[in-house]
Amino acid sequence: MVYWPHLRYASADAGSSSTSRSDWKGAIVKGQSRREFLKTLGVLAGSAGTLSIWPGCAAGDGTARGTARRPNIIFIMTDDHASHAMSCYGSRINQTPNLDRIAKEGMRFDNAFCTNSICAPCRAVILTGKYSHLNGVTDNRQEFDGAQQTFPKLLQQAGYETAMVGKWHLKTDPMGFDYWNILPGQGVYYNPEMIEMGQRKKYTGYVTDIITDRCLDWLKARSGQKPFCLMFHHKAPHRRWEPGPDHLTMYDDRTIPEPDTLFDDYSGRGRAAKESDMSIEKTLTAHDLKLTPMKNLTDEQKARWDAAYGPKNEAFEKANLQGRDLVRWKYQRYIKDYLRCIASVDDNVGRLLDYLDRSGVTNDTVVIYTSDQGFYLGDHGWFDKRFMYEESLRMPLVVRYPREIRPGSVNKDIVLNLDFAETFLDYAGVPAPADMQGRSLRPILAGRTPEDWRRSMYCHYYEYPAEHSVKRHYGVRTRRYKLIHFYHDIDEWELYDLEKDPQEMRNVHGDPAYASTVVELKTELSRLRAAYQDTTG
Ligand code: CA
Repeated sequence: MVYWPHLRYASADAGSSSTSRSDWKGAIVKGQSRREFLKTLGVLAGSAGTLSIWPGCAAGDGTARGTARRPNIIFIMTDDHASHAMSCYGSRINQTPNLDRIAKEGMRFDNAFCTNSICAPCRAVILTGKYSHLNGVTDNRQEFDGAQQTFPKLLQQAGYETAMVGKWHLKTDPMGFDYWNILPGQGVYYNPEMIEMGQRKKYTGYVTDIITDRCLDWLKARSGQKPFCLMFHHKAPHRRWEPGPDHLTMYDDRTIPEPDTLFDDYSGRGRAAKESDMSIEKTLTAHDLKLTPMKNLTDEQKARWDAAYGPKNEAFEKANLQGRDLVRWKYQRYIKDYLRCIASVDDNVGRLLDYLDRSGVTNDTVVIYTSDQGFYLGDHGWFDKRFMYEESLRMPLVVRYPREIRPGSVNKDIVLNLDFAETFLDYAGVPAPADMQGRSLRPILAGRTPEDWRRSMYCHYYEYPAEHSVKRHYGVRTRRYKLIHFYHDIDEWELYDLEKDPQEMRNVHGDPAYASTVVELKTELSRLRAAYQDTTG
């Protein structure tokens, strides 16, 4: 049985796409490089995964082959949402029913990782499908070169209507979008200014609600002729974790469980962990902890804020806490505010999912929820991200597409933010350019992991010297091990046996029992660095 989904897509969007039959034949015979050709085959093989999709997918949707549309894509991304604060990942500290709904009706990835655990670099990797050293954004201080190839541009060229709403954080204006409305820089939680197609405009209200409203407005205003790709990107739950008006007192009646490693003394690790500056105990400011007055609120917002925080802050002053009790209080204040921000995200994702249901496009829309990276939720005594340790390397990733993804499925393959661009292009029937470095997740989402799927991943973090003092490092993670090399003003290696030590408390790099493992992992690290053309560090 020969079945090429791309031809099916092409027939549905004839004239608006570069994936017509003749284009495809041409692409293959016009002398691509071997890598490009293999990649094309990979895309086709990936799409052919629809052959083995779960039985209910194609049947019953009333869509005959040859008339099906290319799916819409809604890429929801938050900023700094760790998967261990999502109930479908077994969170001990909160419930996220609407985010869980995406997992319940689609697939949850248990081993999704980022390639450089910090905000702007992750966004640049996602847009380009290339590692930081190739896309030019190695740290938060660099500008994204918008002239380069990105997946939104390729989707737009292939006939998709594209939009970017919310946090962009790449300094230069978005390109490749028919509509964009972004927060300037980090943006603010209350009464944010946004830049709509170059025009600044101030909104009154809470940023997570406002970004969702703008997305829904855009969806409602569409003509519906073309498939669309919407980037729906929240500021939340980024520092300084200011909750919305509906969640100011959420969790006031309970104590959030502490992580096992809240009082980690880093004795099992090297200098990098010890010399970092991102601790609950020492780094959080009075401003972070909401002990200073809020500015730039409307009178009504201020009244609600003060009614919620005033009594809590008074009780704190009176208690005069010291030592570990003070750290425990700071953790509670920090984590409750963080979770309150996520509660608003969850509510608003629910609004979007309901809208998709009401407008009848749920079956035709790929919905992705992820975050730019993970985060420390008091783990190891920290907040923030950056390190290649598990809590910040790991990303939440759930995907729903009823036509191809079996509800409630769980995948444990190593997947990366590097793979998103090629995944979206695959769904759109657009061949992935040969210089992209990820791989389409579409076959995995259809329940069929390719035999030669990656068994290790490569990460490289650059932002040092800088805020939080996390030293430069690169490393490799396999199913069982993680090898990290810290460099620049240090030359230290760390090895963790994740099977025996999932919390990464004991560096076993110098342990003779792991000598052969170190050799193997160093070989793998060199292989990955060469394959990804990384000669930095
Ligand atoms: Ca981030």
